[in-house]
Amino acid sequence: MDLLAAPVIETRELRKTYDIGSVQVHALNGVSVSIDRGAFTAVMGASGSGKSTFMNLIGCLDQPTAGSIFLEGQDVAKMTRDQLAEVRNKRIGFVFQGFNLLSRTSALDNVSLPMLYASVPKEEREERSREALTSVGLGSRLRHTPTELSGGQQQRVAIARALVNRPSLILADEPTGNLDSHSGKEIMELFRGLNEERGITIVIVTHEADIAAWARRVITFRDGEIVDDKAVAA
Ligand code: ADP
Ligand code: MG
Repeated sequence: MDLLAAPVIETRELRKTYDIGSVQVHALNGVSVSIDRGAFTAVMGASGSGKSTFMNLIGCLDQPTAGSIFLEGQDVAKMTRDQLAEVRNKRIGFVFQGFNLLSRTSALDNVSLPMLYASVPKEEREERSREALTSVGLGSRLRHTPTELSGGQQQRVAIARALVNRPSLILADEPTGNLDSHSGKEIMELFRGLNEERGITIVIVTHEADIAAWARRVITFRDGEIVDDKAVAA
């Protein structure tokens, strides 16, 4: 099979049910969607509509109750634990609403972390961290800890960390949710650049229409289903 021709993500009838005590929550109710290489997609929907559940499944952070997920043509269910860990670590970059940085650790060391798990040698780790931080405009903040940075700068550190293993896909769950509108716009400009200049496939969750407007495609969830899917004019 030609892996490059396959969609980066393809889901078929994806379902996720959470069992909480005697109650079942049907978070996803049969989601079938295909996302092409190089796409810039926004996932929208009200709180509780299943956006994060969808992202966690396509990011291999959680397993579906039913249905299938193909990443670059490969059936995730057929991958071994080691293959899944490798996909998460090397092919996907994650960005979260709350930044998820180590607060007492320098920007440089925060960004180095995924390479530590990927057994990259120390000198190369430092060089690549420096390069990633410079590429997000933080070349002069390498030794600062998150507490010494603004929210927008912290999210840029998180994006540098997501980039450092050169992923083909970035999954960002409400990355601008904790930021003021100016910093949010800067983060979206950064994502657009990564998409247009480096060809990285980006899927970003947001519930704000002006953030979703940066994407080229908007998929809307309601009650665990896709209720709208449309292209955005450039
Ligand atoms: P969104 O990101 O769109 O706000 P979520 O995917 O987080 O939505 O949640 C979808 C539904 O699943 C909600 O009803 C939520 O309460 C429920 N849910 C999410 N995560 C869990 C969990 N770990 N355990 C039980 N229910 C959950
Ligand atoms: Mg969510």
